[in-house]
Amino acid sequence: MTQMPAALDALKKYFGYDAFRPLQAEIIQAVFDKKDALVLMPTGGGKSICYQIPALVLPGTAVVVSPLISLMKDQVEALRAAGARAAFLNSSLGEADQRAVEDDFFNGALDLLYVSPEKLVSQTFQPLLQKAPVNLFAIDEAHCISSWGHDFRPEYTRMKFLRTAFKNIPIIALTATADRLTRKDIVSQLNLAAPEIFIASFDRPNLSLEVRPGQKRREQIIRFIGKRPNQPGIIYCMSRKGTETLAEKLNEAGIQAGHYHAGLSPEERDRVQEDFINDNLMVVCATVAFGMGIDKSNVRWVIHYNLPKNIESYYQEIGRAGRDGAQADTLLFYSYSDVSLMEDILRQNDSDQLDIKLAKLDRMRQFAEAVGCRRRILLSYFSEESTEDCGNCDICRNPPQTIDGTEIAQKALSAIYRMRQKAGLNMVIDVLRGSGKKEVFEKGYQHIKTYGAGRDIPYLEWQHYLLQLLNYGFIEIAHEEHHNLRLTPASKRVLFEGEQVPLVRFATLKERQAAEKAA
Ligand code: ADP
Ligand code: ZN
Repeated sequence: MTQMPAALDALKKYFGYDAFRPLQAEIIQAVFDKKDALVLMPTGGGKSICYQIPALVLPGTAVVVSPLISLMKDQVEALRAAGARAAFLNSSLGEADQRAVEDDFFNGALDLLYVSPEKLVSQTFQPLLQKAPVNLFAIDEAHCISSWGHDFRPEYTRMKFLRTAFKNIPIIALTATADRLTRKDIVSQLNLAAPEIFIASFDRPNLSLEVRPGQKRREQIIRFIGKRPNQPGIIYCMSRKGTETLAEKLNEAGIQAGHYHAGLSPEERDRVQEDFINDNLMVVCATVAFGMGIDKSNVRWVIHYNLPKNIESYYQEIGRAGRDGAQADTLLFYSYSDVSLMEDILRQNDSDQLDIKLAKLDRMRQFAEAVGCRRRILLSYFSEESTEDCGNCDICRNPPQTIDGTEIAQKALSAIYRMRQKAGLNMVIDVLRGSGKKEVFEKGYQHIKTYGAGRDIPYLEWQHYLLQLLNYGFIEIAHEEHHNLRLTPASKRVLFEGEQVPLVRFATLKERQAAEKAA
């Protein structure tokens, strides 16, 4: 018997929607079939429905593990308002409230129970969990399980017992962060049994992508908005102060702009948000605090005044534009000093997971410095194959000149090969350039055949080529091994099968300055 008609009824009854989005029905079917599943879907893609619908259709209670207490509360309130029987258990509840929720859970009086990971793994919760009529475990924000992920939560690694303790109950793990390592980690940490893996497309072809050098940003922004009168847009800034200063300058230039950050009073924040949603305020200068939970479909542009700290954040923030599917423009300002500033901030505030955070920032930098289709880089970051350039990014519209880089690539790849994939980017360049540095000699790299083979190419130019090889997957960074460069299947094709490698010519500083003037 198929439960799909009941699922569609529930979609209409509780959420008011007539049809599932791509993959939702397949994912729900997997749950009905009691299969484990891993779901990768961009933020806003509609992950919640994938476990909420089975929760509402199947007898018993779905246990949803969620790391964010505030989101848990919002979700539960929204579900209750829609007529579902939902509750949450976490440290924010008093004794009596907890007891009441636990009773309901035990008695099968809940469709959904949201719990914090701490609660789920706590000893006191286990007897109840064993006895309650659980029909499904949903692990939301599942990337928190991976120490490679950007918000690692140690309690998430203690949920392995679920798979063995609840043999017949499906586990569905959901996340918007999809790199391969995280994906592998989720499956192994949860011990998922031959999970079905669902990857929704992260592609948003209606968003144009553009990166510009971060010089005279304010003037550039004023011109940008001038070309888009009465179009709602968001400018993300790194600091609270930055949002205020920028809004002030825009207002002075005759552009009505508000500012938004977590330091404002709740009333002020609500007012800016309301005005923006109702099209009474077109421009908001904001920190990343702005936009979460805002459902505004006609945002026409998003500007990043500063470099975001990783590609996930960037993707999420530009994703607030063009939700209606119509063309929307995104613009990122980039300067190397932003990278150093962000690095310093990470080092000062966040010694936790520092290596990973720095590596992610570096991927962001590579995106900004890219010389190939930016969308392909974004999609490959989210593990999506793309074979064609997008035509809707600055690089596609204004392609840089290419040269035959096969020999350059061969030299670099064979150096990496001969250094047994045990050296980072700088060391590889030093060896190619035949550097006399102490570290080179300590490792004995002066004896390898490619030592000095790229002496004729300056350091920065090598860097430019190696970053391209990285961006196109001819090499990769072993983040877990001191960021050493290593070879990929594609590099073997270059080394052993003579595959040609077009590279973008290195423009001199003079040439770059001239191009900027002309633009
Ligand atoms: P995620 O958890 O993936 O970020 P949500 O589950 O919060 O996304 O869904 C994002 C938005 O899309 C919500 O407003 C949700 O109601 C809406 N949505 C989800 N599924 C559908 C659907 N099948 N039809 C229309 N809207 C949907
Ligand atoms: Zn492109």
